[in-house]
Amino acid sequence: MRILITGGTGLIGRALAADLARDGHDVIILSRTPERYTGRLPQGVRAERWDGRTAEGWGALADGADAIVNLAGENIAGGRWTAERKRRIRQSRLDAGHAVVQAVEAAARKPRVVVQASAVGYYGPCGDDIITEDHPPGNDFLADVCVAWEQSTAAVEAHGVRRPILRTGVVLSTEGGALPRMLPPFKFGLGGPLGSGRQWFPWIHIRDEVRAIRFLIEHEDAHGPYNLTAPNPVTNAEFTKALGRVLRRPAFMPVPTLALKLLFGEMATVLLDGQRAVPQRLLDAGFSFTFEEVEQALRDLLSKQA
Ligand code: NDP
Repeated sequence: MRILITGGTGLIGRALAADLARDGHDVIILSRTPERYTGRLPQGVRAERWDGRTAEGWGALADGADAIVNLAGENIAGGRWTAERKRRIRQSRLDAGHAVVQAVEAAARKPRVVVQASAVGYYGPCGDDIITEDHPPGNDFLADVCVAWEQSTAAVEAHGVRRPILRTGVVLSTEGGALPRMLPPFKFGLGGPLGSGRQWFPWIHIRDEVRAIRFLIEHEDAHGPYNLTAPNPVTNAEFTKALGRVLRRPAFMPVPTLALKLLFGEMATVLLDGQRAVPQRLLDAGFSFTFEEVEQALRDLLSKQA
């Protein structure tokens, strides 16, 4: 298969590209700065330039491609959510979606599938409710971004292109994302729950994230939204305890809600308002998770660091 991955230089895209290339697929990642990755990509993966907004310069690669995975977007944890940052978080995702639509529309041989990224933030803060894919969207900033982001590639469906949507939780990896940022306080014996610790933490191991994306690429019936979260979400307090056990460090120094709000501003919602999301549609489709329990996932990732 030939597979294009927008934002393929990121945490999820890198792991996905490497996994696909290992199985002999032709993988092209689209980056705004492909020269930064020269000589550093796994065998079978090449990087092409795009501007993140249009199909110019790369659109022809979509002609005859089997799949496009649209992951690109300004990192949501890259700094305080100023008005300008919020604009970039939203606009970069809408632009990437429109570029993908342009490329698909111009392609004589359409890709079979466009996999569209989104996040469990789609649902907004939901307390203790169990969240499956038919739960309606929330109405905060991230929910609003996710709704527009999911919609940004909807037009490809009119061309007969299948479109599964990834409502991803917190991806656990040692290569980037949330987990490496959580480790330093634990190493100093200062780990602990965030705020009340009662908020949900919809985690997924990076290997299951990659396996689920590949499942959705290959599964001809897969379309619409899928929660990419482990089947057993835990509360932040439970996650913290599991992390403490795996690292063999204490985990009872709570970080006060007020401190998080002062430090992160509106972005604190990512830490304080997790969703109790479950991967109903993946399980119904017969997908099985390698990492179902959080402690098992953390041991796999961190055993060398404990
Ligand atoms: P990363 O932030 O690691 O990577 C995203 C990639 O998008 C970057 O490598 C970059 O590629 C590209 N990008 C960044 N800013 C822009 C921009 N302004 N315009 C166009 N492209 C840009 O993301 P992840 O791999 O972690 O996640 C992939 C997607 O899934 C993201 O959109 C993310 O929001 C979403 N997601 C991730 C979760 C996680 O826990 N990691 C959880 C839920 C959703 P380059 O600089 O090479 O162009």
